[in-house]
Amino acid sequence: MGVHPAKEGTRPVLDDAGLQALREAARLSPDNLPLRRHLAEQLLAKGYLADAEGEFRAALLLAPKDPDITAGLAESFVRQSAYGAALSSLEPFLATPGYPPRMGVIAARALLGEGETGRAAHRYHEAVSRDPSVADPELAARLMPPPPPQAPAPTAPPHPAYAAPTPAYAAPTAAYATPAGAPPGAEVEKSKLSFADVAGMEAVKESLRVKLLLPVQQPELFAAYGKRAGGGVLLYGPPGAGKTHLARAAAGELGAAFVNVGLSDILDMYVGSSERNLRATFDLARRNRPCVLFFDEVDALAARRSDMRQAHTRQLVNQFLAELDGVDQSANEGVLVLAATNAPWYIDVAFRRPGRFDQLVFVPPPDAAARAAILRILCRDKPLAEMDYDAVARVTDHFVGADLKGLVDRAVEVKLHQSISAGHPIPMTTNDLLAAAQGTRPTAVREWLGTARNYVLHANESGAWDELMPWIKGKW
Ligand code: ADP
Repeated sequence: MGVHPAKEGTRPVLDDAGLQALREAARLSPDNLPLRRHLAEQLLAKGYLADAEGEFRAALLLAPKDPDITAGLAESFVRQSAYGAALSSLEPFLATPGYPPRMGVIAARALLGEGETGRAAHRYHEAVSRDPSVADPELAARLMPPPPPQAPAPTAPPHPAYAAPTPAYAAPTAAYATPAGAPPGAEVEKSKLSFADVAGMEAVKESLRVKLLLPVQQPELFAAYGKRAGGGVLLYGPPGAGKTHLARAAAGELGAAFVNVGLSDILDMYVGSSERNLRATFDLARRNRPCVLFFDEVDALAARRSDMRQAHTRQLVNQFLAELDGVDQSANEGVLVLAATNAPWYIDVAFRRPGRFDQLVFVPPPDAAARAAILRILCRDKPLAEMDYDAVARVTDHFVGADLKGLVDRAVEVKLHQSISAGHPIPMTTNDLLAAAQGTRPTAVREWLGTARNYVLHANESGAWDELMPWIKGKW
């Protein structure tokens, strides 16, 4: 009774008449758990995903916390691209060591869908190491770093800041091979978010619209003024303030592909490999234009060359600059480069020249109105009572988007447990959010602003940090 699609071939799947009979039988005996479970699995196997989801939910009311049924429900979510819902349903199990391995594989697919390749790979490997029969080579191929190249290891150790991250899993096996020529981790996503999913940040959205969207949406206008689309935008601000969320929404707003590049997709301890990875990532974006190519934690790839002890890390910066410039005028047409950093002061000024990251955009921590708007977005598809988001916003000073997301996830988890015990969904209330807020400490926005103050207060001659100044001098 596997729930993994790779195993579907081995599971007898009923024809339509058989399925109809099964539906009828389940309708006549609604409390017959084995029957309902069987129906749910058949629906999933046949790809009737919404129906499967409904049946798994019904079965879960008969047998709360049943791992097979939960896994089936999560799989039906993943296959409908409802990755957040899948992860929420698995969460109570995944927190416990020894959870069913196939849940780990389903969670890996959901994490991958959310763009969290590193965590996905970790989950996947952990699951497969406990039960090799749940392996899914196709998924593994999408998760893995490149096989170790044949080049000799560098003689000197790399600069610690640029050392390749240690893989969280053991050496690759054949199932993990990356398709030849493909960049190791980066992959092409179709973003379902738009600017409507980003609360507040009106000024930031407007500057991205002008910079990224208008040239593509109205090329004639730009051509008439002899202006070419191009150049990248560097988003900076405290961790969790929504830089990645914003980049993904910009891609969706534009109808462009989204390539999310993490540090581990590029950095490799072998000389020359990081440069190759970087080139392959740009090529991937160029093959999928229009495309938003997003570099997270870009300070590690674009640090000031004077800060680098190793010649080969300087080489990587030079390669990055060369890719941004493109071999010819049209190389990066339709490729919009966005990058995010928590430490913009480490970025080499060469990156800020025209045509490169020539626009710096501050993504601020949300004020109370923005926090209320973020909460509204985060709660919108949940069963809700009348909500007073402003009241929650008032008690969540210094919370950023990521903190608010954590808060809502916790409140939902509590509600889910209550609903399962009650046997029916219980709507979430303002008090649930207030209670979750009580147990949550915000991440370090204040500390971040303190660091920012040290770096930029006496170094703003060019006006590069103008947007940040009111925050540094303000109440924070
Ligand atoms: P960063 O990249 O700045 O570290 P993220 O983009 O990962 O932060 O933000 C974490 C989460 O917080 C996002 O996945 C999103 O759910 C939520 N979030 C942050 N800012 C907003 C916003 N303005 N509107 C809606 N959700 C937000």
